Amino acid sequence: MSAEQGKKTLVLKGIGVSPGVVIGKVYRFDPLDVQLSFYKLEDLTLIPKEIARFKNALKESERELLKIQENLKKTKVTEPLYIIDVHILILQDKKFISRTIKYIRRLGVNAEWAVRMTLDYYKQIFEGVQDVYISGRISDVQYVSQRILRNLSGEKKEIVWEMGDGVIVVTHDLSPADTAQMKMDKVVGFATDSGGRTSHTAIIARSMELPAVAGLDNITRIARTGDEIIVDGTSGLVVVNPYPDMLRRYEEKRLLYSASKEEYLKYAKLPAVTKDDYKVQIGGNIEFVEEMPSAITHGVEYIGLYRTEFIYINREELPTEDDHFNNYSQIVTTKDLLWSTIRTFDLGGDKFPSNQKQAKELNPQLGLRAIRFCLKEVELFKTQLRAIWRVGALGKVKILFPMISGVEEIREAKKLLEEAKNELLAQGVRIASEMEIGAMIEVPTAAIIADKLAREVDFFSIGTNDLIQYSLAIDRANERLTYLYEPLHPAVLRLIKKVVDAAHDAKIRVAMCGEMAGDPLCSLILLGLELDELSMNHLAIPRVKKIIRESTLQESKLLLKKAMSFNTAAEVRACVQEYMLERFPGEFQREED
Ligand code: PEP
Ligand code: MG
Repeated sequence: MSAEQGKKTLVLKGIGVSPGVVIGKVYRFDPLDVQLSFYKLEDLTLIPKEIARFKNALKESERELLKIQENLKKTKVTEPLYIIDVHILILQDKKFISRTIKYIRRLGVNAEWAVRMTLDYYKQIFEGVQDVYISGRISDVQYVSQRILRNLSGEKKEIVWEMGDGVIVVTHDLSPADTAQMKMDKVVGFATDSGGRTSHTAIIARSMELPAVAGLDNITRIARTGDEIIVDGTSGLVVVNPYPDMLRRYEEKRLLYSASKEEYLKYAKLPAVTKDDYKVQIGGNIEFVEEMPSAITHGVEYIGLYRTEFIYINREELPTEDDHFNNYSQIVTTKDLLWSTIRTFDLGGDKFPSNQKQAKELNPQLGLRAIRFCLKEVELFKTQLRAIWRVGALGKVKILFPMISGVEEIREAKKLLEEAKNELLAQGVRIASEMEIGAMIEVPTAAIIADKLAREVDFFSIGTNDLIQYSLAIDRANERLTYLYEPLHPAVLRLIKKVVDAAHDAKIRVAMCGEMAGDPLCSLILLGLELDELSMNHLAIPRVKKIIRESTLQESKLLLKKAMSFNTAAEVRACVQEYMLERFPGEFQREED
């Protein structure tokens, strides 16, 4: 279910033209939402009047642009000034003017029609130009034409904001003049149908340091004013009506992005090794392949969690084996990755595919979710399993099963994995020679019988997001319960410790891929727990690496011992906070009482 009941979640991929992550409300802006009429002049004696009307519209447009320029000069945003200069030059361009007048004269059409024809003529010419920058400049002629048309129609419509703050402008593309007329203090981001890096929206967004994604093709047809929207200008993604869980993750990304200062980035590519030589492998959690470039820049060593369920949303038809394969191959073939962990799809809970194969449940978090759903929908599951085997031939892949609650489920999943392998081998298809199999430990029963599960798999990955939800009995999507959601709860620490010990006794590796892994406040606690791998939101990596590199395993163990001696979550948190504040004074801020 999406954030607003009943609204469909849609993920759109475009070009990230201005970095950063922002969440806001859609404001649909259509610069041409005036009604235009195109007609043949009834009487040729009307031609001079029509030409005069066109010339007046030119003058009026120029007057408006000059006024906008004047206003802009009073602000610190100077970028649009030059672009407006170009627009004034187009307005004065002799060829542009004479061509339009020629259409009025020769064809006896009204000025609106003539301006449209002139615009079409230039469009055709620009389309033939190979150079992307030059062909993209047709947008300037377009903006100017729109302005003239607006003035011809007598429409004096300026951009009115009826909405509150935090507006994300969704439009075809914006002219600098359009932006100049907006209440920019209310705008927090842009998403446009057209345009690339050199589009005006992109230039303006960068100069104002607002996240923007361009080239989304049809966002103006999809998003409605007032819809909730995420713009990830770093990865070029836009999500309309996100799921609550996705919304929370992006809120985290937004905060991390604003905090990911240059000074941290120098730690991105360094190994996470403590001063006493304890090495933790640092991975990234990915939801979309578009996040890969940013993940690499921020220092992922491997992909610890690829949430494949997002392949199912955004489409009417179920994905084919090839759809899965093509998608995963983009991750698996990324250079410099140690391995990629593909988590089989976790649908249900608060994530539903567009093509809902699931019945509505009263309590979806406790319902037919993740591996339970897969084991019921065997063919759907095997389609994915076959694709994972195939992509394993292109690079090192590990498979991870979500929400395992007992030994039977992992055995059943392994059986299907084996069947998928044999089917492919029988067809002579190239597949991975071997594949490590992992179980997510995110249900308390799995943590409690971790010693038994450890005999069935090659590695564990602890999903604290769900482990906390299920062990503390807190619906992770319920905002009213966030005060109870505590990774440092003594019960959670005990469960994690039990899992790590069971894994190490069985000589298998244990990772953490829940949000807790990327919380720098918890870094020493997790070191003390001796997790082998931490996979996190990639934006968190540089800071976590910095902290690990400045710590020792020995001090971490002491801190963990002390933290685990307390009875309440509040006491554990206070102890950890106090220590981290003292130890890393520049990194953490004291919480106000
Ligand atoms: C988790 O539960 O911690 C986890 C990583 O999985 P997800 O957030 O996708 O449920
Ligand atoms: Mg989970």
